[in-house]
Amino acid sequence: MALVTGGSRGIGLACARLLADSGHSVAVTYRETKPPEEGFLAVQADVRDAAACEAVFSEVERELGPVGVLVANAGITRDSLVLRMGEDAWADVLDTDLTGAWRYAKRAAASMVRARYGRIVFVGSVVGLSGAAGQANYAAAKAGLVGLSRALARELASRQVTVNVVAPGAVDTELLAQVGQKRVAEIVASVPMGRMAGAEEVAGAVAFLASPQAGYITGTVLGVDGGLGMGH
Ligand code: NDP
Repeated sequence: MALVTGGSRGIGLACARLLADSGHSVAVTYRETKPPEEGFLAVQADVRDAAACEAVFSEVERELGPVGVLVANAGITRDSLVLRMGEDAWADVLDTDLTGAWRYAKRAAASMVRARYGRIVFVGSVVGLSGAAGQANYAAAKAGLVGLSRALARELASRQVTVNVVAPGAVDTELLAQVGQKRVAEIVASVPMGRMAGAEEVAGAVAFLASPQAGYITGTVLGVDGGLGMGH
């Protein structure tokens, strides 16, 4: 079965839909927004809460069996320039985007190692490699995912568990809408393909890395960014 954190909307929901189309039974977590009724097991859990993480795994394992695919997608932004950034904005983003992902990956890895099979996909960002003014907390968290995934990839490789990062550029979701139309227009102008991605285009990359066909790909960062990052 496949577990997607933050699967109530945006990229997470698109991943859940595509993984279900690929034949997985799917569970999604969410913080506040209930996902649409589409046959997924939906569990409310804040990724910052360690006890809730344990409860999520107990419930999905009981209902759907062991987690063979984890998509650690839940993420937030709290943008401001470093000189104005408060401790809470820094901690909130690191706790959600990096520590939350580590928590779910750690728990998923335990059963994947036993099964001698697994796919962990972290949803990072092009910003984790390029940086972005006003997003030091987010860039640090997303860069952290790259190091986390590569360390974990090395730890789990002999058990045929792969660990990878998908790094989207600008994706048309509520998260990006928060930055405002003017900023979105500036970002899009810098994208070689001249447009945002649809969430389903990111999901396509996630579903590929989660598939049996991607069994020899581990420790990679796959950009889905219309050429914005060009591999960096
Ligand atoms: P959305 O804001 O549309 O969705 C975010 C999802 O994460 C929601 O399901 C939300 O749940 C959930 N979530 C947020 N905080 C928590 C939490 N503490 N615990 C559990 N769930 C939580 O964002 P996107 O779909 O755009 O983003 C998904 C991922 O993609 C993020 O990691 C983001 O950083 C990354 N990304 C997005 C890009 C973009 O341009 N949109 C570009 C690059 C990366 P709820 O609805 O209940 O709040």
